[in-house]
Amino acid sequence: MMPRPTGKLILPGIVAVLAVFGALAWVSGSSSDQPSTCFGSSARGALRDAWKLPRSGSNFRAYSGLGWLLGRTFVHSAVHQVLLESYRRLEAAHPEYRFVYGETGFEAGGPFEPHRTHQNGLSVDFMVPVRDASGGVAELPTSAFRKFGYGLEFDDSGAWGELRIDFEATALHLAELKRSASGRRVRITRVIFDPNLSAHLKRTRAWPQIRNLPFMTKPPWIRHDEHYHVDFETPCRPLGALAK
Ligand SMILES: [Zn+2]
Repeated sequence: MMPRPTGKLILPGIVAVLAVFGALAWVSGSSSDQPSTCFGSSARGALRDAWKLPRSGSNFRAYSGLGWLLGRTFVHSAVHQVLLESYRRLEAAHPEYRFVYGETGFEAGGPFEPHRTHQNGLSVDFMVPVRDASGGVAELPTSAFRKFGYGLEFDDSGAWGELRIDFEATALHLAELKRSASGRRVRITRVIFDPNLSAHLKRTRAWPQIRNLPFMTKPPWIRHDEHYHVDFETPCRPLGALAK
């Protein structure tokens, strides 16, 4: 009789597959159904009971399936609700718009390289909404080759190749974030967007709704041209309370 080595390989094969899925589930993380608790600040903080943003919705998607899978899109529950409500409102008013959100943070918060903040579930990056040469709604290319969208360089008029930043959509998005946040007693404490580009927002129809937002005026440590960064504020516990 010939030996049947394949039978012996089935069990290790199943174990290996389960191990891969287990490891993936572990790094990917899962969304809590409890209200989140944030600790410390966005520059030095942590997060518990984090909520994972959906990979996509009818008018939005994550910047990267890989980033989403690696657990890089967790936020505080209050921020989660603000983001999704603003997307719902935008869909009702402008169903043709498409939005791409960027990196947010890990399930447990904490250091989030290469970002300097994003540590307590209250910081969110949004990739700029764009239009193509014909004026049609388009999406930013966010492949790994493009550093998930973060590697693009827009000029001061808001152009990159054939793509143009849709400043109307950007301003409306910020207006809806502000509106959804205020309805949930969450505040927007900082908006980081390239100063030359945010100047274009002043000519949009939605500008009167967002003119009071705290746009950072000093140059940020990296150029924010392909994305805008928003810091939210909701009551957090001191970082020292985490160990107790
Ligand atoms: Zn950021």
